[in-house]
Amino acid sequence: MRNLLYIDGAFVEPILGDFLPVIDPATEECFAKAAAGTEADVAAAVAAARRAFDHGPWPRMPAAGRAAILRQVARAIRDDLEPLAWLEMRDNGKPLEEARMDISDAAYCFDYYADMAEQAEAEGDAVQDVGDDRFHCRIRKEPLGVVGAITPWNFPLLMAAWKVAPALAAGCCVVLKPSELCPLTCGELARYLHQAGLPAGVFNLVTGLGQAAGVALSAHPGVDKLAFTGSEATGKLVMQAAARDIRNVSLELGGKSPFIVFADCDLDKAVEWIQFGVFWNQGQICSATSRLLVERPIYEALLERLKTAAQQLVIGPGERDGVQMGPIVSAAQKRRVMEGIEQGKACGACLVTGGGTPANRTRGYFVQPTVFADVPLDSWIWREEVFGPVLAVRPFDSEEEAIAEANDSRFGLAGAVMSADLERCDRVAGALRAGVVWINCSQPTFTQLPWGGYKASGIGRELGRHGYDAYLEVKQITRFDFDSHWNWYRTARPA
Ligand code: NAD
Repeated sequence: MRNLLYIDGAFVEPILGDFLPVIDPATEECFAKAAAGTEADVAAAVAAARRAFDHGPWPRMPAAGRAAILRQVARAIRDDLEPLAWLEMRDNGKPLEEARMDISDAAYCFDYYADMAEQAEAEGDAVQDVGDDRFHCRIRKEPLGVVGAITPWNFPLLMAAWKVAPALAAGCCVVLKPSELCPLTCGELARYLHQAGLPAGVFNLVTGLGQAAGVALSAHPGVDKLAFTGSEATGKLVMQAAARDIRNVSLELGGKSPFIVFADCDLDKAVEWIQFGVFWNQGQICSATSRLLVERPIYEALLERLKTAAQQLVIGPGERDGVQMGPIVSAAQKRRVMEGIEQGKACGACLVTGGGTPANRTRGYFVQPTVFADVPLDSWIWREEVFGPVLAVRPFDSEEEAIAEANDSRFGLAGAVMSADLERCDRVAGALRAGVVWINCSQPTFTQLPWGGYKASGIGRELGRHGYDAYLEVKQITRFDFDSHWNWYRTARPA
């Protein structure tokens, strides 16, 4: 498999002719190559998107025209669900069942924003009474322009869909730069958009390294908005690049999200959601509830159950039936996760389970699900994102203490609380400084709901109506009544 760039309605070779290897993290084998786009390819893609936005039909056509194409893409993704899920699994390592769920969510995202484009158009301009009947005022929303979308590797197609579907629905034109680690399903997305008859230049795909294609896209003055999902460190660079020309930016960054578990909970349910919150997708989840706060009366019992449950997880290549955890995405990422685990071992925390490579896994980037207890508040493992299957646990004695420790983080993407007392859950949900709060669960994510973080976890929201408005400019149109007089200069005023 050899993935090309998609620029101005055509699949093309990268200008410098280079390709990057794509590695299957379960076998460490290179099974595909993807074009290594560079600054010149980005320039061609942005120029095409600019032409399509400034002069083409896409932003000007009735919403039904855009919606029809998006629905066709949704259908194509659904029709190819099985091969796409396989590709995502090989590229990223995630279990096949999880890949199927991601792909089907991506298809839904295109249908959802097709509906929203039509609905928003039907709503029309909002008329605003300003308390002076000589003025007729309206608020209109218009497509924002050319979007530079830069996405990560943990949910490759889905993270692209969260940006591409609403941006196209809103009438924007897009240059997508997916992660160099998992670029393949975004190549398939380009194919579906092409086959659906999208006008040339409306969507462009430039795969390649962050240091080359990503830097060039974020620096390009022809891009009106940078929509970025990835690490905090890269997010800062993208925001700095946007600041040079005062361009719009949205950032979906990392987190170190807390999960507060009270003693009145059902222990079995608690164990299942805690595991899902930090081991699903091998823990490579921006919203992973990787800091667990447990009320002291159930602390030891819950740790014991978590240990047993973690040791029972089935680890292996994602294609095998019954596999619950696949490999980490790459050798470098596994190294980072292992460094995080070493930090945990060195800080005085108690290693409850895991902490290494599974004994029977000599090939592939596998890591054991790992739990640390009694983790010091000021330790690296309590404060920083590991982005792997590593849980840090502490006991607490009061609701106030749990909330204070949960909020004591520079991140604020998500948080979770579990208790039989729903009033208490609501109190805690209100007190958590995070953009997403789960009660009695962790991680379920719905296309209809806004997604994004407080504090260093990001700026702006994706999904839901917020995720559509993120690709619109707001214009006020104020009309003065033709038959009236302003009379500012005619009125006699005292000297
Ligand atoms: P990353 O920041 O390394 O890379 C993200 C993207 O940016 C990639 O496409 C990469 O090629 C590109 N990039 C790298 N350097 C760049 C630069 N200097 N300029 C422009 N682009 C550049 O992140 P990652 O390792 O791919 O993803 C993991 C991170 O993403 C984690 O921190 C995770 O929490 C975060 N994430 C957040 C969300 C969310 O919704 N908040 C969702 C998924 C992942």
